Amino acid sequence: MIPRRQDKRLEAVIFDVDGTLVDSERDGHRVAFNLAFQAAGLLDRWDVPTYGKLLEITGGERRLTYWFERRGRSMDEARERAAELHKKKTEIMRGLVIQGRIPPRPGARRLVADVRASGAQVHVATTGTRAWVEPLLHQVFGRTFQVVVTGTEVRELKPNPAVYRAVIEHAACDPARTVAVEDSLNGLRAATGAGLRCVVASNVYTREQDFAGAALTADGLDDPALVAWFSRRLPFAESGPRRAVAKRA
Ligand SMILES: [Mg+2]
Repeated sequence: MIPRRQDKRLEAVIFDVDGTLVDSERDGHRVAFNLAFQAAGLLDRWDVPTYGKLLEITGGERRLTYWFERRGRSMDEARERAAELHKKKTEIMRGLVIQGRIPPRPGARRLVADVRASGAQVHVATTGTRAWVEPLLHQVFGRTFQVVVTGTEVRELKPNPAVYRAVIEHAACDPARTVAVEDSLNGLRAATGAGLRCVVASNVYTREQDFAGAALTADGLDDPALVAWFSRRLPFAESGPRRAVAKRA
């Protein structure tokens, strides 16, 4: 058990991207996958509920492979098709990002700015592809994040903890004084598997998941409970840039 006193001083916060910092799943990735299907002359389309179910599989290429296999293609053919489609989809997603079509989740900019202002480090651990993650972070948050590890560098996707371990190693941060922020069960498992505490800010796709083991489960990054949790633990919380919101919804 970590003593509560030590608990209060966070040294680093590691953010997931998809569904956590940005609402990218429904209006970003899903749209990009459908445009990639269309560009390849395929009739496959993912509506909002279908995509919600497919999100249980992390990584776009794995999601496509699963989809093609379920539609009766051989494993080799499914893999080949998925690799091809995923390349196209990444290109399309990059275009959506550059056009500014992927907004931050409410409270995301504020939370990241507060963490930075407190003196704690901010990092990113995502299974997304660097080709769109990098322009997205730059476009939405500026040059804020210190260590960014993506699915391009780490092949084992969440819930495997590899991406979190890579961030901890590169940033040389103490896992006992670092917290992860995630939106999904796969993300929570990846973070806790790397020995981190994890705060979950769920969204419409993940709200029903069981987040047992999370340090806190909140409805979003602007949830007063989440804001208060960070206010109590950031290095300069007492005189910090922002007081906890006392009023509960
Ligand atoms: Mg996520």
